[in-house]
Amino acid sequence: RGTVAIVGRPNVGKSTIFNRLIGERKSIVDDTPGVTRDRIYGTVEWLTQSFHIIDTGGIQIEDQPFSEEINMQVDIAIEEADVIIFITSAKEGVMTDDMAIARKLQKSNKPVVLAVNKADNQELQMAVYEFYSLGLGDPMTISGAHGIGLGDLLDKVIELMPKKELKPYEGITSFCVIGRPNVGKSSLVNAILKEDRVIVSNIEGTTRDAIDTPFKVDDKEYMIIDTAGIRKRGKIYENIEKYSILRAMNAIERSNVVLFVIDGELGIREQDKHVAGLAHEAGKGVIIVYNKWDTVDKDEKTMNAIEKEIRAQFVYLDYAPIAFTSALTHSKVNKLIPLIDEVHDSCCMRIMTNVLNDVILDAQMMNPPKPHLGKQLKIYYASQVSVEPPTIVLFVNDPELLHFSYSRYIENKLREAFGFVGTPIRIIARKKS
Ligand code: GDP
Repeated sequence: RGTVAIVGRPNVGKSTIFNRLIGERKSIVDDTPGVTRDRIYGTVEWLTQSFHIIDTGGIQIEDQPFSEEINMQVDIAIEEADVIIFITSAKEGVMTDDMAIARKLQKSNKPVVLAVNKADNQELQMAVYEFYSLGLGDPMTISGAHGIGLGDLLDKVIELMPKKELKPYEGITSFCVIGRPNVGKSSLVNAILKEDRVIVSNIEGTTRDAIDTPFKVDDKEYMIIDTAGIRKRGKIYENIEKYSILRAMNAIERSNVVLFVIDGELGIREQDKHVAGLAHEAGKGVIIVYNKWDTVDKDEKTMNAIEKEIRAQFVYLDYAPIAFTSALTHSKVNKLIPLIDEVHDSCCMRIMTNVLNDVILDAQMMNPPKPHLGKQLKIYYASQVSVEPPTIVLFVNDPELLHFSYSRYIENKLREAFGFVGTPIRIIARKKS
């Protein structure tokens, strides 16, 4: 999927347009507690296409003059986006800041859609001619407040979207390392790569992407996603929390397994929950890495106590195994690759339909669903419809009757029977026809 960024001066209406474009999808990420509500990132679906969209206006640096802030926002847009929507305002006309942004965008050679917002009536729509002077082609008039012109805007975005074939890394296990600044992500990546790994420069049949690092262990190939962002460039932006969340989302999407790193020296922090929420919601394999283990004052009870604390803080990640590492001393770093393999295998596991149905039948007999409003759920049969994550459809008498707690119970039975490690499992109820 491509990425589209919205740029423009403050108050031209960027977030109104952003919210209109992402529509009802906005609330999806908000279901998990602790996940940022204040969104700058979403998905737009238009006709048969979909793309990611960033409202760069939401990326802010504290105590910086406006001009610095806009500068940074445009830089990020140019770096991240395939197409840029540049929003101006018919009410104010062409302003100095608009000209500065236009110059930067021209130099970038990225496709730009120039939108003149607040063109609420005919008189304001006439103001559009002035915007040809920005040298970015035909301006389009829109009104975010009235929802005018947005369909044409989206058509134009789709038309300009480069047709890149972003192949997934087939046959390779790809993973990313995410976490707050300074938890030890880059140290961990370096430690993983130093453990006798051969870094390969090019793997046949994959899209070459300078920011991913391919390597081999024995004869198996792996890819660390977005490593350059962590190792170099990331440092500059990483303290801008929303920006680092955006980077993490991009990396997670391209990974099979996510390593979610916690700083063992500082313990769990509020911001860790945002990161954990992202890891969980993507439906990827997850490993919780408790790093800087060397700094922890410990006896034989410490590990259990910390494990309990992690489980209590990240309840929804209960399926993720926990690794205690030190990127500094390399302690237990060599355990990560086998664990990544195990988790990825679980994510890809396919269960034969008859075996699956035996387990679900047993589970129902041992603990039948409790009647709800006088009606009882009946599961007739089940089928695994996809992998990554394993997704099971239960064909039932009435999908409304599948209570969350019963779905949880079934999930646990499946985990017991098949040993899924580190992967979420999706359970969907459908009415048997
Ligand atoms: P990042 O921002 O998450 O990539 O974190 P870095 O890898 O840059 O590490 C931040 C700091 O923590 C650096 O000073 C590292 O040397 C230190 N560090 C990283 N991992 C460990 C560890 O396992 N133990 C100790 N003691 N320090 C670590």
